[in-house]
Amino acid sequence: MGFEVDSANFQIENLVIVGSGPAGYTAAIYAGRANLQPTLITGLELGGIPGGQLMTTTFVENFPGFPNGVMGPELMDLMKAQAVRWGTYLIEEDATSIDLLKHPFSLKVGNLSIKTNSLIIATGARANRLGLINEDKFWNRGISACAICDGSTPQFRKENLAVIGGGDSACEEADYLTKFGSYVHLLVRSRNLKACAALQERVASNSLIKVHFEKELIDVEGDHWLKNLIVKNVKTGEIESLDVRGLFYAIGHTPNNELFKGQLSFDAKGYIKTEPGRPETSIEGVFVAGDVADSEWRQGVTAASSGCKAALSTERWLAKRKLYKLIIREKSINGTDINDLDDQIQLSNENNFQSDALWQKGSYALRRLYHESSKPLLIIYTASECGPCHVLKPQLKRVLNELEGRAQGVEIDIQNDEEISRQAGITGTPTVQLFKNKSLIKEWKGVKQKSQFREEIIKALAN
Ligand code: NDP
Repeated sequence: MGFEVDSANFQIENLVIVGSGPAGYTAAIYAGRANLQPTLITGLELGGIPGGQLMTTTFVENFPGFPNGVMGPELMDLMKAQAVRWGTYLIEEDATSIDLLKHPFSLKVGNLSIKTNSLIIATGARANRLGLINEDKFWNRGISACAICDGSTPQFRKENLAVIGGGDSACEEADYLTKFGSYVHLLVRSRNLKACAALQERVASNSLIKVHFEKELIDVEGDHWLKNLIVKNVKTGEIESLDVRGLFYAIGHTPNNELFKGQLSFDAKGYIKTEPGRPETSIEGVFVAGDVADSEWRQGVTAASSGCKAALSTERWLAKRKLYKLIIREKSINGTDINDLDDQIQLSNENNFQSDALWQKGSYALRRLYHESSKPLLIIYTASECGPCHVLKPQLKRVLNELEGRAQGVEIDIQNDEEISRQAGITGTPTVQLFKNKSLIKEWKGVKQKSQFREEIIKALAN
């Protein structure tokens, strides 16, 4: 049962999959069942979030097998669990460089160097920004790229808001935002919506949405928070000001191709080029699946189908080249346990509160720990439908586990604990705050590397 090592004594993987959307996980499920023992790099901060675009959507109503629809993050959790169950080895980090010009291919992932005989690229696509003059100034202060993550925060409830875009995302997000009592201006640059008929109908029948056709966003204004949009009528050139407290982008995507520039062939829009319907790239042994090679279909189900094709092609290619071998893993650094999906912790109250518990939920625990505990306290503000929160929570729990009780964590659902979220000035989810002895030490917005939280907690322990 020997395994191949190269001259630098690296174990060479059979297959590394980069990307954790439906394409990556489906490739992993097929490769796992073919005994390839694939390693899957989930990604973390670069190019979107682990789990991909379905992590920032609500109900997916067109994925076969779910007659009543399924929440995007839940669907991704199920795919992840299925991949893990079939022996996929997950590394929850970003790949920072990939060399395809020499075989076996090499990757840098966090502190790890990995060699592999074959590679499946499933890095997907990321949400576009407009690049307005004042965009950075109001990013997270009124502008957001994810209505589903941030829309339910107190700052956006019962307010005038705007969504920009005319596709499925824009329509879905506009409709979602009205659930919190807001009035939504949908700004569409062309004369038509390009969303599917079902979503167009949802917008048309929602009296809290006003669609503005042929309107272009020129810039945003405000003081410490977004106050109004400068909007141009593309037909007449007329400029108007629109009072809103929130602006949500839904203007399409760019393929995550940066790691492969100068190595693979791309089409004119930057998508990785293949023969139509095929997973082979311009380099033998490198296959591609999902949105990074698909500017046209971009559906969960088409990504999954291309992941299946990529895995089957890889299996055949490795067999033909006689490159398949048994992988020996010294220890599991898998990091992902199917039990991570099991989030059974009850909301805290005076009966179930535990002063030394590693992780609790709700404002009761927060108040008690804030006033009574001298340990560093990590608070994560989440929303039930927020995909990135879903990704971050198990990471934080792992950090606390590793610190063996020297720090504690509390989860606050901003929809259940609106007042406390308002007091804490939360403008989006996930937001993580680190406190010690009632002082705020650090705040993070969005998904970050596990090491960042760990390092700050260790510093706080030393002070
Ligand atoms: P799309 O690319 O489909 O739509 C982007 C929209 O943004 C278009 O209306 C486009 O306008 C507009 N746009 C692009 N650039 C600008 C700009 N600079 N200024 C103003 N408007 C701009 O992206 P989506 O994210 O909506 O959808 C991506 C994929 O995901 C699609 O395949 C979609 O079907 C799928 N999806 C499915 C969902 C579901 O089934 N529930 C939910 C969300 C997405 P124009 O039309 O003029 O080009």
